[in-house]
Amino acid sequence: CGVFGVYLSDCEADVSPMIYYGLYALQHRGQESAGIAVTDGLRLRYFKDMGLVSEVFDPKILNQLKGYSGIGHVRYSTTGSSYVANAQPLVVRYKGGDMALAHNGNLVNAVSLRGELEAQGAVFQTTSDTEVIANLISRAEGDDIKDVISQAMRQINGSYAVVILTNDAIIGVRDPYGIRPLCLGKLGDGYVLASESCALDAIGAEFVRDIKPGEGIAVSKNGVESFKIMDSPKMALCSFEFVYLARTDSVIDGAGVYRARINAGRMLAMEHPVQADMVIGVPDSGTTAAIGYAQQSGIPFGEGLIKNRYVGRTFIQPEQKMREEGVKVKLNALRETVKGKRIVMVDDSIVRGTTSSQIVEMLREAGAVEVHMRVSSPPVQYPCYFGIDTPSRDNLIGAMHTVKEIGDMIGVDSLGYLSVDGLVRSVAEAVGRYEFSASDCPYCLACFDGHYPVDVPEQGQKYLFE
Ligand code: 5GP
Ligand code: SF4
Ligand code: MG
Repeated sequence: CGVFGVYLSDCEADVSPMIYYGLYALQHRGQESAGIAVTDGLRLRYFKDMGLVSEVFDPKILNQLKGYSGIGHVRYSTTGSSYVANAQPLVVRYKGGDMALAHNGNLVNAVSLRGELEAQGAVFQTTSDTEVIANLISRAEGDDIKDVISQAMRQINGSYAVVILTNDAIIGVRDPYGIRPLCLGKLGDGYVLASESCALDAIGAEFVRDIKPGEGIAVSKNGVESFKIMDSPKMALCSFEFVYLARTDSVIDGAGVYRARINAGRMLAMEHPVQADMVIGVPDSGTTAAIGYAQQSGIPFGEGLIKNRYVGRTFIQPEQKMREEGVKVKLNALRETVKGKRIVMVDDSIVRGTTSSQIVEMLREAGAVEVHMRVSSPPVQYPCYFGIDTPSRDNLIGAMHTVKEIGDMIGVDSLGYLSVDGLVRSVAEAVGRYEFSASDCPYCLACFDGHYPVDVPEQGQKYLFE
């Protein structure tokens, strides 16, 4: 998911167009639903629906969302199915007044928390774990919203980058491992919170800094206040942000995503060289790593696959059938460039393997004589419990099969994946470090190596409450 918030100090200002553009820039983080909640200081108004930002909002709706402060969300479902009751921001009225919440991440103790809350008489209207957070906030004691939110967040395990809107403030909080990104920007006298820096750029805000793990940031008429929710045992930013999830022009916790992806492609070329005539990327997510591979190997980079730019991310479609049909609409091989050539095809990841086998077939039909696949991340072998909807282990091709078997299944002449060490180094170099030792590596690598930063439940998460 993507979260965004803007607080403008001028109470006559109109914040909803800015939130709209911020969400537009975060659209790659979720395409299932979009929502905006704003306040004019007295009343909180909101609108949310299924679909892309551009489908959900039009000028008429934005016009009705008058306010000087607000938050927004684009959703990619991890706990709770894809339907409108689960769209965010979640808007509630509690003893402290109106409140709206937008959450990126996934709680791992949502079941037990929800059970306890229900035992105390709480009612739930959605099947999303964000409502658990809202209930914890509404039950916490105290007048200071920073304390109230901290008390609630301390009961939660898992990943969260949350932005909260009240009638007089926006608050951003990041989990103690910093699994999901969240940054602060400045816009005139106002402030912005965003999942990624590309959304700050979109509205002309200036990057200030990343929110620290375990930190809260409150923006109100008192300016920006930082508060501590809890100590951070260690940093474990999701490495998959650099592989796939984040936009290439974002900078997260000091690492440029572009630089990390170029590095990953370069390391991949060192780890898995091959004789070939042209390097191509699987657009868009594989392109930057393919450029890195070409730079390092000296094999020319070319365009071999053309993407229909009006199609969204295929993986992110929640059902398998839609995902399969999506690939052909989305990509086509460019016969003129691939015909008669030995191709190195670089993609960022193989999850189920559906995409890759179809693309390889397209390239062969277009006349490629050899197809060597190179993947700029290690095999995805373990499910994510922190906000990426990876399937259970038996649907992860990397968990069920050896590299050799996968290569045969997707029909390539050779297959090579980046090592875990190569991935860590590609990000490390992007923050100006040569490498990290295992104990000070600040990234979560659990879907590749099974070492989860937080204890994880055994059952799947998505349909827990259905
Ligand atoms: P698959 O191997 O499952 O067919 O798909 C792999 C492709 O899905 C890669 O090109 C990758 O860019 C893309 N992808 C899109 N969304 C996600 C996601 O949320 N997680 C993962 N692991 N890959 C994704
Ligand atoms: Fe990211 Fe993988 Fe960790 Fe999930 S398990 S947070 S996708 S690195
Ligand atoms: Mg892709």
